[in-house]
Amino acid sequence: MIVKALEIIKVEVVVRNIAAGSLAKRLGLAEGTVMAKTVLEYYYKDDALGDPLINASHIAALDLATPEQMEFIRTTALKVNDIMREYLAPVNIDLIDYKLEFGIHKGQVILGDEISPDTCRFWDKNTGEKLDKDRFRRDLGNVEGAYQEVLRRLTGE
Ligand code: UDP
Repeated sequence: MIVKALEIIKVEVVVRNIAAGSLAKRLGLAEGTVMAKTVLEYYYKDDALGDPLINASHIAALDLATPEQMEFIRTTALKVNDIMREYLAPVNIDLIDYKLEFGIHKGQVILGDEISPDTCRFWDKNTGEKLDKDRFRRDLGNVEGAYQEVLRRLTGE
C-alpha cells in the first residue's frame, strides 16, 4: 500500500442525502426523510468533547482551516457524493450519509479517509435494509453478512 502522511485537519465532514442518526434526532425528522437539498455538516474532531457540531464561523475562529481550504473540502465532499451515488445506484444501494476527513500533504489539502460501510450509511434501495455499521451499532445482527453483501454487489465476489 502506498500512503501519504497527512497533517489531519480537525474537522469531520458529514454529507447527508436522507435523514438518519443524529440529524434525524436533532431536527425531529423521521429516519428515511429525503432531504430536499444535500446537507453538509462539520464536526470538531475532539474525542474529549465528543466531536461537537460546528459551523464555518467556528472553524475560522478556531483556525482549524482557511476559507480556501474549506471551499476545497466542501466541493470535494459534494463531488464524492455525486460519484458515490452514481456508483451505488446500479447495485440498488442508497447512499444515506457519510463522513470524510481531510489532511494537508506538502501544503495541499487531500482526502484522508476510507469510504466503507464503517463510515457511510448504505440502505438497500428496495427494502431499506441497512448494509452498514448501524447493524453493529443498533445490534441488528448479521454485520459481516451485510458488509459481504455490499462487496458482492460491487464486485460480484
Ligand atoms: N460517522 C463516522 N464516524 C464518526 C461519526 C459519524 O463514520 O465518528 C458517519 C456515520 O457512519 C454516518 C454519518 O457519519 O454515516 C453520520 O453519522 P451521525 O451523525 O448520524 O451519527 P451516528 O448516528 O452514527 O452517531
